[in-house]
Amino acid sequence: MKLKTNLSILLASIVLVACTTNPFTGKQTLALVPNSQILPMAFQEYDQFLTENKVVTGTADANMIKNVGQKISAAAERYLTANGYAGYLTDYEWEYNLVDDPAVNAWCMPGGKIVFYTGILPITQGEAGVAAVMGHEVAHALANHGQQRMSAGQLQQIGAVAGNVALSNDPKNQSIFNQAYGIGSQLGVMLPFSRSHETEADRIGLTLMAIAGYDPIVGAQLWERMSQAGGEAPPEILSTHPSNQTRIVNITEWAPEAKAEARKFGVTTFKK
Ligand SMILES: [Zn+2]
Repeated sequence: MKLKTNLSILLASIVLVACTTNPFTGKQTLALVPNSQILPMAFQEYDQFLTENKVVTGTADANMIKNVGQKISAAAERYLTANGYAGYLTDYEWEYNLVDDPAVNAWCMPGGKIVFYTGILPITQGEAGVAAVMGHEVAHALANHGQQRMSAGQLQQIGAVAGNVALSNDPKNQSIFNQAYGIGSQLGVMLPFSRSHETEADRIGLTLMAIAGYDPIVGAQLWERMSQAGGEAPPEILSTHPSNQTRIVNITEWAPEAKAEARKFGVTTFKK
C-alpha cells in the first residue's frame, strides 16, 4: 500500500514537472523545458537574427511597431496579474523590431522577442492591424504553443525526459528543438501551428489588443486581407499560421467578448 502511494506521488510529481498551466485557458500543457533554459537560447537566436538582417530604426513605422508592442505587452501584464498570474512574465525581455524584408511575416519568440517584416505593413495598414498581428503572435508565445509542436518521435530523438531535455551535440537534434520551441527564426524553419493553437491564439490575441485599446474587429479584417494577399504566392505568415474562413467568422463573433473583457480594465474606447 505504502509503495503504491509513493509511486503515485512520484508519478504525480513527474507530471507536475512536465506540465504547466495555460493562464488563458486553465488547461494543463506540456512544458518539458523550463523558461529559465529556453529563454536564454531564444534571446541568443534573436540577437543573431538581428545582426544578420536589416533592422529599421527611427522611422515612423519602426516607432509604431515599438509603440504598439509596448501596449500589447502592458496589456498581457495587466491581464495576467488580474487573473492571478503575476510574475508569469518575469523572465520575459520584450523587444519589438522591424526588419527591412519584403516577406509578409511577423513572429514572437519565447520570452517576448518580436519581429515584424516591412512586407507585412501594407496588409496591417496601420496601428490596429499591427496590434491584431502582434496580439496573435504574443499569444502563441504566452501559451507556449511552440513547445507543444514537438512530436513524440522527435521527443525521443532528442532524448527528452520529464522535466528535462538532454540535447546531444548533434546539430539535427538542436534544429528539431529550436523548431519545436519556436526558436528558429529563419524563414521556412518554423513549423506550422495547429488549427487549435491558431484558434486559441486568435482568442487570446483579441483580448490583448482590446485591453491595449484597439478594436478587436480589426482582427477579422486583417485576416481577410491576409488571405486575399499574394495571389499564387500566399503570404509567408500563412505557412506557419494555417488560416481558413472559420477564423474570420470566429473573430467576428468573439470581438464583443474581447471588448467586454477590456472594459473590466477601464478601457472604453477602441481604436480602429
Ligand atoms: Zn498563429
